[in-house]
Amino acid sequence: MFSDREEARYERHFSLPSFGPEGQLALRNSSVLCIGAGGLGSPAALYLAAAGTGRLGIVDDDTVDFSNLQRQILHDESRVGATKTESARARLSGLNSDISVEAYQQRLDAGNAMDLISRYDVVVDGSDNFPTRFLVADSSWLLGKPLVAGAIHQFEGQLSVFDPRLPSPCYRCLLPEPPPVGTVPT
Ligand SMILES: [Zn+2]
Repeated sequence: MFSDREEARYERHFSLPSFGPEGQLALRNSSVLCIGAGGLGSPAALYLAAAGTGRLGIVDDDTVDFSNLQRQILHDESRVGATKTESARARLSGLNSDISVEAYQQRLDAGNAMDLISRYDVVVDGSDNFPTRFLVADSSWLLGKPLVAGAIHQFEGQLSVFDPRLPSPCYRCLLPEPPPVGTVPT
């Protein structure tokens, strides 16, 4: 069921009560799409890769800036100027070469959101603007995909899970409409 490498790598998961080899197998057979490889996407993607999520998608259209390095821990000094997806793929594959990392160097928009999200089991939104957040939330909900939505501003943070498979509120129950552009910080 598992290779010797996997047995060694996930030893602590196998001995974790209520996770075990079954949990590891479920994780290996699962896929997660991370929207954004920035301050939120970085730690999320690193832990998902380290833990053995079988297939990880990363969507970002940005390049690594020196000022990103203080929080966007997927990237390092050698990648300044590179695309964030290229940097993410290199780092995540270096961390765990047994998983597959799929990079989408593009902005998530109304033309590609449904197609991209439909290819994954779970969506992690680490985007930095409201139009993208609403697009991700609406698309995930319509496709029946659980959405893990994280957001931070200065010293405050929010983390929510919206799961359309359960009797559960959606993102628009919390925030009915996007705030007018330019009225709120990213
Ligand atoms: Zn709702």
